[in-house]
Amino acid sequence: MSKDIKGKNEKNEKNEKKNKKRLDYLCVLCFPISMDFARLNKGTFDSILTERLVGSIMKKVVKFGGSSLASAEQFKKVGDIIRADESRKYVVPSAPGKRHSKDTKVTDMLYGCYALAEADKDFSAELAAIEARYNEIITGLGLKLSLKDEFEVIEKNFKLKAGSDYAASRGEFLNGRIMAVYLGYEFIDAAEVICFHSDGSFDAEKTDTVLSKRLAKAERAVIPGFYGAKKGGEVKTFSRGGSDITGSIVARAAKADLYENWTDTSGFLVTDPRIVENPKPITTITYKELRELSYMGASVFHEDAIFPVRKAGIPINIRNTNSPEDEGTMIVESTCRTPEYTITGIAGKKGFVAINIEKDMMNSEIGFGRKVLQAFEENGISFEHVPSGIDTMTVFVHQPEFEGKEQNVLSAIHRLAAPDSIDLEANLALVAVVGRGMKSNRGTAARIFAALAHNNINIKMIDQGSSELNIIIGVRNEDFELAIKVIYDIFVSSVL
Ligand code: ASP
Repeated sequence: MSKDIKGKNEKNEKNEKKNKKRLDYLCVLCFPISMDFARLNKGTFDSILTERLVGSIMKKVVKFGGSSLASAEQFKKVGDIIRADESRKYVVPSAPGKRHSKDTKVTDMLYGCYALAEADKDFSAELAAIEARYNEIITGLGLKLSLKDEFEVIEKNFKLKAGSDYAASRGEFLNGRIMAVYLGYEFIDAAEVICFHSDGSFDAEKTDTVLSKRLAKAERAVIPGFYGAKKGGEVKTFSRGGSDITGSIVARAAKADLYENWTDTSGFLVTDPRIVENPKPITTITYKELRELSYMGASVFHEDAIFPVRKAGIPINIRNTNSPEDEGTMIVESTCRTPEYTITGIAGKKGFVAINIEKDMMNSEIGFGRKVLQAFEENGISFEHVPSGIDTMTVFVHQPEFEGKEQNVLSAIHRLAAPDSIDLEANLALVAVVGRGMKSNRGTAARIFAALAHNNINIKMIDQGSSELNIIIGVRNEDFELAIKVIYDIFVSSVL
């Protein structure tokens, strides 16, 4: 045996011993896991194994929506979720949401209560009802905590007319206080770490600096969602549903590995369940696809919440508090996973007007398009799509936005572009078929159009972006639901 080979063999033996040790160690770790989770499927088992192995070095930011924190029972589910994974270090709660369909969200109760205070009317009964909601949670959790002092301060500030943003922010503030005590986590008031400019816009860079410094000092913490403060301390909220944004900001500042957004659905669905019964869930979606779908009406997640984590390359996992074993939807920058059905999702909106403009020799008139669009700009109307022919150009706009300014826009087009004719068509809907898988597949458009034609749906407009990420189709408002159903059937139901 040559020296070289002998040396290699000795090395291999050593490696084998090392690997065996590693394997024994893994088996020890695996055993209790497999006992605990014997009934779970392989995918979940794998992810739990990974969580156990790397859980301690990973850092996750977890945001819980209002329905996940509406009652003590819901709080307990949240507590179990957080305790099940020690990498869930930073928690962003919303205010308590609806406990049942006829219930009122605490945020809405606060807005209502403050409206009375602002009008110098008695608001004591309304404030007491809000206090009762929190007390019910505290008692249900068996906590030794009193929010009496906080409510006295709130009452005083309402009388001083501290503003409706301050009023609404108390929903998250108080829920955060309860959550911190319940989990034994540090409480960080969002007013100290989420910064707004004096004009009310969000100050992303200052927030990132202040918040990262603060989080570095807190191993585990609760940071209430939805609000922050301006330089002088005046409380400012994001738009409704804004706790999603706080979660994303905290994930960026904490340099988290994952932002988990816990809600009451198991992630995104391929299409609207009000139109298609039990649509399939989406397991992985890219930020770009999500942007297209949410712009066209799909909603689970606040649109503005994507930016901070996307910038930091942190994936988002949408999960269901009421069904924590579901894997939910992963929102990622890019993925090599091909979508199961070629398309990722279908969304759409009703209520568009098409303004069809004709002019002989339009194609050779340089600047014609700019002049037409200027007419919309002058009237403060944004356009959605501009499909064009040789001597025709169509501009799609939102009907409610256009209606009040219709004649001003038309006369501006005449003045600026001198067309031969303008013709309007109202009550149109746009359907967006979105999917990164379309790029590598032939025949996607053909399948969509064939499905629509077989169902007697007339196509008014077709627009395929050069990225091949989406195909947008214009149909009449009354064909909207059927169009979505038949596209879903051809791509999803027919391959099942
Ligand atoms: N509580 C606020 C709302 O109802 C913010 C949130 O829940 O994200 O809009």
